[in-house]
Amino acid sequence: MNVDIQSVVIGAGVVGLAVARALAMSGRDVLLVEAGEGIGTGISSRNSEVIHAGIYYPEGSLKAQLCVEGKQRLYAYCDGHAVDYRRVGKLIVATDEQQRSALTRLLEQGRLNGVDDLQWLDGAQARELEPALSCVAALWSPSTGIVDSHGLMLALQGDAQTFGATLALRTPLLSARCTEQGFELHMGGNQSMTLGCRELINCAGLSAPEVASSIVGLPAPFIPRAHLCKGSYFSFSGRAPFRHLVYPAPESAGLGVHMTLDLGGQARFGPDVEWIERIDYRVEPRRAEGFYQAIRRYWPGLPDNSLQPAYSGIRPKICGPTEPAADFLISGYGEHGVPGLVNLFGIESPGLTSCLALAERVLALLDDR
Ligand SMILES: Cc1cc2nc3c(=O)[nH]c(=O)nc-3n(C[C@H](O)[C@H](O)[C@H](O)COP(=O)(O)OP(=O)(O)OC[C@H]3O[C@@H](n4cnc5c(N)ncnc54)[C@H](O)[C@@H]3O)c2cc1C
Repeated sequence: MNVDIQSVVIGAGVVGLAVARALAMSGRDVLLVEAGEGIGTGISSRNSEVIHAGIYYPEGSLKAQLCVEGKQRLYAYCDGHAVDYRRVGKLIVATDEQQRSALTRLLEQGRLNGVDDLQWLDGAQARELEPALSCVAALWSPSTGIVDSHGLMLALQGDAQTFGATLALRTPLLSARCTEQGFELHMGGNQSMTLGCRELINCAGLSAPEVASSIVGLPAPFIPRAHLCKGSYFSFSGRAPFRHLVYPAPESAGLGVHMTLDLGGQARFGPDVEWIERIDYRVEPRRAEGFYQAIRRYWPGLPDNSLQPAYSGIRPKICGPTEPAADFLISGYGEHGVPGLVNLFGIESPGLTSCLALAERVLALLDDR
């Protein structure tokens, strides 16, 4: 099998685009293949578009490290590439006395992770920032922001192509086989083809475990089981009385039904947590009931009939509902023993914030070997 191209990246979401950019900028010859009609039609276009500070994740975890590093890289990247963003800041609120201890733990966790700008506010101080809030205390995170995720992806695509990467849309990877030189890939789409490459980077989001399973020569123990965890969003009709993001004290599988703003200042609430068996993006209007309850804990003034079903996203979990939360899993040669292969599994939140740092990590893993 000839080597036709040095590096092939599977999946043109925000992570695959950032990886293709980093590889192309390192001087590699890169092909980025995407099954869909366009870039960023998967998880990357169905999220909260928040630039996270890096507060929630266990110290030393990849999520903590790459979120804190990724946030800095992302703000600088947006500045340098005219990608729209706003450092709006966020309040994490305790709505009763019991939740104070959850905030204290988050403050400590954030500091351990290197988030050194968090401020403790009492209820009155929080209401100076957001008069409509009901809370007994809050954490203020000034370095949390929002970003135009599609603008970001277009900028990453532009960079990757400027440095010579090729993007092939409607080109699903069907299967692959490890060879002496690297990999033999079988692509579908209008013109199915077979090609050889030295490096293969699996950034297939929800399908990453399935793509890994299609690589003959990759031992099965290195492929985690995929679990799907849906999060629905509801939009707020009218103008919400908030200028900053508002998050409740976190829940088990997500960060709680929070209030985010888009760059136009429109409020939306979500995502909730629903474990599902197959991909289904429909938003059930009846879920609104749970939203009204959750939101009114911190915003009692939420008017009746003000929420409309908006959209949903699906978290690419690699742990089930009863298992402890999993970290990002970036699996390279050191783990599975296949030279040139990197699989990215479980890239849920804060994957958007971390995309540039994730890409650097992939590059380092490939250069190590
Ligand atoms: C509800 C929700 C809210 C979130 N909110 C935030 C947030 O506020 N901030 C934050 O930092 N992160 C957030 N995230 C996480 C963030 O959105 C993801 O980590 C990130 O978008 C993952 O990008 P990706 O490129 O890995 O996946 P994707 O965007 O899904 O890209 C994978 C691509 O691979 C393609 N593909 C799949 N199989 C194949 C194949 N066989 N061949 C070719 N292509 C293939 C798919 O079509 C897809 O385009 C959220 C996630 C969810 C679900």
